Amino acid sequence: MTVPQTPRGAGRFAPSPSGDLHVGNLRTAILAWLFARSTGRRFLLRIEDLDRARAGAEATQLADLAAVGLDWDGDVARQTDRMPLYRRAIVQLAEAGLVYECFCTRREISEAPSAPHAPAGAYPGTCRSLTDGERERRRQERPAALRLRASVTAYTVADELHGDFTGTVDDFVLLRNDGVPAYNLAVVVDDADQGIDQVVRGDDLLSSAPRQAYLASLLGLPRPHYAHVPLALNAHHRRLAKRDGAVTLAALALAGLGAEEVRHLILASLGLPPGSLADALPSFDPARLPRDAWIFDPPSLPDRVGS
Ligand SMILES: [Zn+2]
Repeated sequence: MTVPQTPRGAGRFAPSPSGDLHVGNLRTAILAWLFARSTGRRFLLRIEDLDRARAGAEATQLADLAAVGLDWDGDVARQTDRMPLYRRAIVQLAEAGLVYECFCTRREISEAPSAPHAPAGAYPGTCRSLTDGERERRRQERPAALRLRASVTAYTVADELHGDFTGTVDDFVLLRNDGVPAYNLAVVVDDADQGIDQVVRGDDLLSSAPRQAYLASLLGLPRPHYAHVPLALNAHHRRLAKRDGAVTLAALALAGLGAEEVRHLILASLGLPPGSLADALPSFDPARLPRDAWIFDPPSLPDRVGS
């Protein structure tokens, strides 16, 4: 007789295959793993390749994640394999009257007078109530994007590190005018479909969480637990980037730091002891995580490798 498995939730790491991961990305991945494993969840990898995919980047990213000691459950998911799911969600919203065509260019949106009380950057609703005739005429000019007809302007999510966070919800894009599903739609559909109930990611995405949680509610999907973790910054307190020097595993190896040493460095930045990730697990406590950004000053590369 088989014992029925208790259904478990899952956490995830979901990189875009646009290039090599840097230490800040690796730290976020390790945090997502620690959050998932410390709560008995599965840990899934998803490649967000709808946009900005560079040949070979996925393979390097997976190898780097394994090199710092991450393991994951099941097959790696790719968003480009999941287009029918995104289409189905858009149809569901459209049938509920929650989708409209938008013909605005980026420039038209930035130059349009914003609606009263709308925060900067929110879509001003230009195409919300076009007549059939206007829509017909504009379709001749350019393909439409599809936007959500939102009935709220703000939404609140609970975040493990930030507490209750209320952020803007506007009529955000669901399907871009080049036919690619928008990030907010794909993430919500994927997380629910993959059984992901814990979203740990960089705090640059905190402002997206209210839109995503609102969209999940419209689709009748459960909303995940959120933990938006501090990013890595460079010595000038700007977001860490490749141009900051030795920030990828490949470059750090040239500077004399192997993957294991990079893991120890990341664990130390989280107040955790050196060792394997499994060794760090018993000491991991979200309540004791540093709440400030991690300042990473890259080691210098040997001269012969420098530009
Ligand atoms: Zn528009």
